[in-house]
Amino acid sequence: MVRTPKELESMRKAGKVVAAILAETREAVRPGVTTLDLDRVAREVILRFGARSNFLGYNGFPAVICTSKNSTIVHGIPGDAVRLEEGDLISIDAGAIVEGYHGDAAITVGVGTISKAAARLVQVTEESLYAGIDQMVAGNHLHEIGRAVEAVAKRAGLGVIRDYVGHGIGTEMHEPPNVPNFWPGRPGPVLRVNEVYAVEPMLTLGGEETAVLSDGWSVVTADGTWAAHFEHTIAITEDGPEIFTK
Ligand code: MG
Repeated sequence: MVRTPKELESMRKAGKVVAAILAETREAVRPGVTTLDLDRVAREVILRFGARSNFLGYNGFPAVICTSKNSTIVHGIPGDAVRLEEGDLISIDAGAIVEGYHGDAAITVGVGTISKAAARLVQVTEESLYAGIDQMVAGNHLHEIGRAVEAVAKRAGLGVIRDYVGHGIGTEMHEPPNVPNFWPGRPGPVLRVNEVYAVEPMLTLGGEETAVLSDGWSVVTADGTWAAHFEHTIAITEDGPEIFTK
């Protein structure tokens, strides 16, 4: 959907709140901290900006961020029983609503010193996001984004999650169309100026199969290998992509 300049201004504000949540929760990550502690930090940021949470209450989700540790890919629920330990990976997915418009972004952070393999997973996943964003130019086809993400992942020998994908975003957190992190076999729609998308590669150290835990939310790798997740909310402008959640 093509947005008006006024809508884009609201989405820019929502993006700033999301960026602040991720900056402050990243700062709070250390051994001994629980994922519920991170949720408290995020709630405080949302309150301070006078924004609203789009995650809290979404199909009954009980927190304002998702916290997904190690082999959990996405949608992990913050809890006081989930304590971060040296060497862990923690993915933090955050969102906010300002003036009725949504922002959505995610990062993966290492807890203390992490293994070389984990560090490379994090680095390549972030690189793949930026390779996708580079394709977000008016006139290009939507699925060039996924093609670029997949190329970076495959070159590094990493798995690309296919069951969960990016999305349009605006007055709802998840709007059509889907933005896969792989080439779906067709180019998809042409990208237009003032469209906004959430692009969010999820890569693994192993396979691409997923499973959902009995909590009904946590999406894990079927083979137990670790995963990383990076996401931004990005507008297509005359001058190329503009990242709202930087
Ligand atoms: Mg998203």
